[in-house]
Amino acid sequence: MNTKHRGVVLYEGPSLIDGAPIVAIATLRSNNRKTGDVPQTWILRRDVDPVSATHDGRDTSICGTCPLRGDVVAGRNHARSCYVRVHHGPQSIWAAYRRGRYSRPTPARVAWLFAAGFVRLGAYGDPAAVPRAIWDRVVSRARGWTGDTHAWRRFDLADLCMASCETSADARAAEHRGYRVFRIVAPGSRRLPRYTPCPASREEGHAMTCVECRRCDGRAGRWRTHVQIEAHGQRHRSLLPVLRAG
Ligand code: SF4
Repeated sequence: MNTKHRGVVLYEGPSLIDGAPIVAIATLRSNNRKTGDVPQTWILRRDVDPVSATHDGRDTSICGTCPLRGDVVAGRNHARSCYVRVHHGPQSIWAAYRRGRYSRPTPARVAWLFAAGFVRLGAYGDPAAVPRAIWDRVVSRARGWTGDTHAWRRFDLADLCMASCETSADARAAEHRGYRVFRIVAPGSRRLPRYTPCPASREEGHAMTCVECRRCDGRAGRWRTHVQIEAHGQRHRSLLPVLRAG
């Protein structure tokens, strides 16, 4: 069986962002180069496939007002700059979910599934859309995790997620709310004070995976820095004016 189809349903219920039906799924293996081979969690609309949701705007339920979603004009998404290729992982995971491929473990079993390992919160979708109790269960016995949220103004997840920010004004506001910041910057940007370049980035030569680094768990402590990463590639072209102005 394809490894991405080995997974479990973590949550089925209303989105905390807008109340629409969503599902959170954990796939237990990954070939993701940035994170390493760790469980990934996917937050999807239950009632519409992920590609369609990006084109009609229903992805708001799982991504909120993230600026990387692009704009919907006449039923088509334009200027999407999110690094997630929705027609790959999210689309096939949603299809597998609809075919009933994923089991529904008990809450106790969920904690054990991720025990002593590392897990990525929100490989697609914002963790803020899912009740906090679900994530608390997922990370309760985990050795570490990574997560970020664009919904930091509305939800207090500062001890679980980094705040995703594109501008210095947003970064300051997120810090004020107690978050550490994961900042996307324009290519070639200087290193910001109190920021560490993401070691999994192209500019750092993919020196580490998230499993090795483990900075982006939101928590204060030994790695109290914020993190910056350069936007690369065609997909981020529409975002560059915002990043350069920010
Ligand atoms: S800073 Fe570390 S944990 Fe965060 S995205 Fe980069 S490699 Fe992963």
